[in-house]
Amino acid sequence: MIKAVRGTRDLLPPDTALWNFVDETARSVFRAYNFQEIRTPVFEDTQLFARGVGEETDIVSKEMFTWEDRGRAQSEQGQLITLRPENTAGVVRAYIEHNLQTRGLNKLYYIGPQFRRERPQKGRYRQFYQIGAEIIGPPTSGSESPARDAEILELLATLLDRLGITGWTLQLNSIGCADDRARYNEALRKALDPVKDRMDPDCQRRAVTNPLRVFDCKVPADQPIIEKLPRISEFLDEPCRRHFEQVKDILRSVGVEFQENHRLVRGLDYYTRTAFEFTHGALGAQNAILGGGRYDGLSEELGGPKAPGIGFAMGEDRLVLALNKSAEEMQPKPNVYIAPLGPGMDRAAARLARELRQQDIIVELGDEGFRMKKSLETAGKLGARFALIVGEDEVKADSFALKNLATGEQVSVPRVELVQRIRRNE
Ligand code: AMP
Repeated sequence: MIKAVRGTRDLLPPDTALWNFVDETARSVFRAYNFQEIRTPVFEDTQLFARGVGEETDIVSKEMFTWEDRGRAQSEQGQLITLRPENTAGVVRAYIEHNLQTRGLNKLYYIGPQFRRERPQKGRYRQFYQIGAEIIGPPTSGSESPARDAEILELLATLLDRLGITGWTLQLNSIGCADDRARYNEALRKALDPVKDRMDPDCQRRAVTNPLRVFDCKVPADQPIIEKLPRISEFLDEPCRRHFEQVKDILRSVGVEFQENHRLVRGLDYYTRTAFEFTHGALGAQNAILGGGRYDGLSEELGGPKAPGIGFAMGEDRLVLALNKSAEEMQPKPNVYIAPLGPGMDRAAARLARELRQQDIIVELGDEGFRMKKSLETAGKLGARFALIVGEDEVKADSFALKNLATGEQVSVPRVELVQRIRRNE
């Protein structure tokens, strides 16, 4: 038997109803905040991620699904193609490619699959889904303003509330501007130099290649060392410090709670200023439901114009795990089960089903080969509210037996009154 590849999975009904609930809620929240949808390809030139996510990151150094595109012309830049491990780089590429800066401030969202070769476990898959959004535009559009950071964070609090997800924590930090980071990195290197040999090999590697990433080390024995390292807050220059204060001020005034976490760093070079993560207690080891931050240098890094931006990516798989809802109850039940009785009745049943479905009534259609008993049993199993019986006499009279499956009561209803009766749930 051929099975789904490790780290991938089928989403089956009724669970897909939960996924649709999340998608629809997200779309409606995005609409209220005036975001528009963008869809970028699921694969891109490998260079995009090498430059846009960073060679030193775990994602690029070991988690990408990459292959050689043999059919591509030699003249085209790069020969390697990668399944997208995240969507921000693709959005910024599209922003540059289609000159979206001429539109001023762009507020874009996406929903779609991402791919990373990670060790599969609960809440961690090789094909997973992200819902994300970006606010990006030329500096004149206000894209640099702390009000945009706060807007994104407040949107996220609203979205989680609307999904009925409680018990989340917003962790917030500022990782400074380019100069602050350079000074901070130097200070970290200096502090790590005498102690790094005592650390776990993976943390040691980080200490050398990208010292900020040391804060992501989870090895318990290394924590006392990490706790004593200098903090980024001591290195923020005045504009950066002010930006962070303003973000926090707005959050307080709109009533969104947060925790400052000086260890929260997003170790990519282009990240600047605000960095954040929402975590959820019920998720176990993989407790981050979403992460994001400001990336004022990314567009330039990818060869585009100066275009400050901020965004987030939310793991939909984890969000669904954190939902406090049962899939069964989200799945709409048929309003009516139509039971054709006897030979030749499938045609009349199909006509009636078409009429009702055009009025948005959920209809399940039986089969003229079924006996009455089997039809009613099937209707009951499906959770239909009514059975509608279509026999020769009913067709002649143009009036049909409508049986309320909860009360057992049955009445004959003229065809033209059916929609109304069913809607009123009589
Ligand atoms: P990142 O792009 O790594 O900041 O991830 C953003 C969010 O995507 C995380 O907070 C997770 O919720 C989700 N995520 C990342 N990687 C995976 C994965 N392998 N499986 C499921 N969800 C993931």
